[in-house]
Amino acid sequence: MEKVLVSACLLGINCRYDGLNCKSPESEKLLSEFDAVPFCPEILGGMSTPRKKSGIIETSTKKPATGEDVWDKKARVLSEDGNDVTENFIRGAEESMKMALMLGIRKAFLKSRSPSCGISSVSCFGEIIPGNGVCAAYLRRKGIEIFEKN
Ligand code: SF4
Repeated sequence: MEKVLVSACLLGINCRYDGLNCKSPESEKLLSEFDAVPFCPEILGGMSTPRKKSGIIETSTKKPATGEDVWDKKARVLSEDGNDVTENFIRGAEESMKMALMLGIRKAFLKSRSPSCGISSVSCFGEIIPGNGVCAAYLRRKGIEIFEKN
């Protein structure tokens, strides 16, 4: 079976900001279809569970932004209590890519709408905007095929 990275919360690991997970019948199917390697970029970046919710904010406009904007140095990741957690998100993405390289992984299934894992849309304190999360953007730039799961 092909080895793939999967957002750990999709597989039932309680690593979400609120200490819960996002397991669903659809995401559970990944376990039978692939050799799934669970990973959580926010935990790999040194954050705790539970933790404050985070959102990506454009530096100049203070409006919601995307993971691409973080890598392009146009946005920062802030927790809801105002702490700048950008370096945690960057470190988590880089460590995730390290895992992919170490294990010869070319695909990742990622939780929708997360500021780290989201693909095609990310949530910023309740507002949904188009774009990838910080880790999703990084994996994609490094050549990993990314797929969204709920
Ligand atoms: S969406 Fe990604 S960063 Fe958030 S809890 Fe799940 S694996 Fe961790």
